[in-house]
Amino acid sequence: MTSEPIASAQLPIGQFEERAGIIDLAWGHPDPDLVPVEPIRRAAARALERYGPEALAYGSPAGPGPLIEFIRSRVADTDARMPAADEVLVTGGSSAALDQVATMLADPGDVVLVESPTYHLAIRIFQDHPVRLVSIPTDADGVDPDATLQTIRGIRAAGGRPRLLYTVPTFHNPTGRSLADARRADLVQLAESEGVTIVEDDAYRELTYDGAAPSSLWGMGGAAGVVVRLGTYAKSIAPGLRVGFVTAAPQTIARFVQGGMLDSGGGANPFVGLVVAEYADAGDYARHVDLLRAAYRERRDGMLRSLAASMPRETRWTTPAGGYFCWVTLPPGLDAARLLPLAEQAGMSFVPGTTFHVDGAGGSDSLRMAFSRYPPALIEEAISRLAKAIRAAA
Ligand code: PMP
Repeated sequence: MTSEPIASAQLPIGQFEERAGIIDLAWGHPDPDLVPVEPIRRAAARALERYGPEALAYGSPAGPGPLIEFIRSRVADTDARMPAADEVLVTGGSSAALDQVATMLADPGDVVLVESPTYHLAIRIFQDHPVRLVSIPTDADGVDPDATLQTIRGIRAAGGRPRLLYTVPTFHNPTGRSLADARRADLVQLAESEGVTIVEDDAYRELTYDGAAPSSLWGMGGAAGVVVRLGTYAKSIAPGLRVGFVTAAPQTIARFVQGGMLDSGGGANPFVGLVVAEYADAGDYARHVDLLRAAYRERRDGMLRSLAASMPRETRWTTPAGGYFCWVTLPPGLDAARLLPLAEQAGMSFVPGTTFHVDGAGGSDSLRMAFSRYPPALIEEAISRLAKAIRAAA
């Protein structure tokens, strides 16, 4: 009997859907040409050779030791301080970590504060839990600590329980902005004094294009441990690995480790965690991040150059120093959701700004574009198609 490969023309493998004729800047995905398939294949083989059946066993609840050691040293190189071993938890990526945070650190009815705009799928994950989302305003310098304090007081005055504050302070999704240095310490101090836990989504720290990334809020948080920082290898290696990490106070890590899910299943994705550790150990991780920084910097620059060359007057956009995204604010009177079909007719796509606001309340004049997935020439072509669509809509 010959074994047929299990394949189907109907069932997809990946999330991305190619649409003929459209340069799709809507997706925050890496360019397939920048995914390190061969080094990961070698790292997987080495992990199996080195650890044998242990590589495929239920894992240690906090994650495989070799990966935890790598996380500690890499965080020491890219952030304000090195986490101790009991301050690290390996996760199944930031999405899984967010879900765990909502499960373990919030009670039914608690309020989760989110920036406006914010990472839209974090909204979705929190909405899978019996918590209440409340938006806090942001400006060009990120979330405003004074406005946050007023919001927290207002919630308390109305009998609510503010518990978590979800933020992407470094190379934000969707805006590409970073929280101003002067605000970082203020926000951590505010969380401490108000008894709110900051959930710091640090997905893009490694993708920095104009020098070192700012210190994380976790790195500034001191002994009080009010910050739970989520890191991920989705952006710096590949999203399909489903491996990331949390750095947080030992008592917070202990709560996760002692929870039922990790007790039952062992640590998150232990085999892939060992593959990442092997990949890093060979020096491939550091080399790959350098390559990504150069490639994405060129794409970011290409997008900014084309925007400057082709956008109508009164269009504004952010200048991201890292990450995947640029946020465009359209000329007065233009609505991004109404522009989208025209843009797609012209052969490009984006995500309308309302998507990044709780209940779609805000951002109708804005849109997000990713510069991660396509080479510079196609990004430039997409921007000139967008300009054409804006002119047609105006
Ligand atoms: N947080 C942010 C801010 C993101 O942009 C993304 C990816 N789009 C994620 C979390 C998801 O990360 P992961 O793939 O590790 O679940």
